[in-house]
Amino acid sequence: MRWLARLDAKIESEVAEEVCPGQCPRCAAASRPVGRGLQIWGHGLRDRQSRGPLTPLGDPVEVTLRVRRYVCRPCRAVIVVVPLGVLAGRLFAATAIGLALALFGVEGLPLAKVRQRVSPWQRVGATAHGSWLALRRWVRAIRDGRLFVSVRRSPGHCSARQVAERAAMTLAALAPPSLAHAVTLQRVFAGAALAR
Ligand SMILES: [Zn+2]
Repeated sequence: MRWLARLDAKIESEVAEEVCPGQCPRCAAASRPVGRGLQIWGHGLRDRQSRGPLTPLGDPVEVTLRVRRYVCRPCRAVIVVVPLGVLAGRLFAATAIGLALALFGVEGLPLAKVRQRVSPWQRVGATAHGSWLALRRWVRAIRDGRLFVSVRRSPGHCSARQVAERAAMTLAALAPPSLAHAVTLQRVFAGAALAR
């Protein structure tokens, strides 16, 4: 067991080197200024939930990710490093949100069906039938420029489905060229993982 623990510690430190942010996003202090000690220090691990299917046609699941935290010594900001596709402040993966937007806006599925494909929580209260608050919130956040900032603002008169469609097509355009001939859902899924 001691051997295992040592091995883990080694892997941990290698991972930490690899993902350590180059500079602080708040005060822009460099992680390793020339001739000075480290400014951004490891600050432990934290569990983070991520919801949604792992592939465009997969069953929705909830997975727990280990994310790494750092602290900036000059300004004391805590910096969280997350894998691509994890959005700050959102429990659903970017890929799941992109998929929901495409199913709703491009394929025109009813909200309940979209929810079935994207949310691991299938039990819906009677009042929630026919609506899915999470998707409504994402559409509102896109309208306000708080989610997927690469998506152009929609004119105010656009319906929720139109906003979702425009967002999904923007995400599809971000997919790698190798997916140029893939179906839309696949391109949206891949593009969302890369989107900001
Ligand atoms: Zn800082």
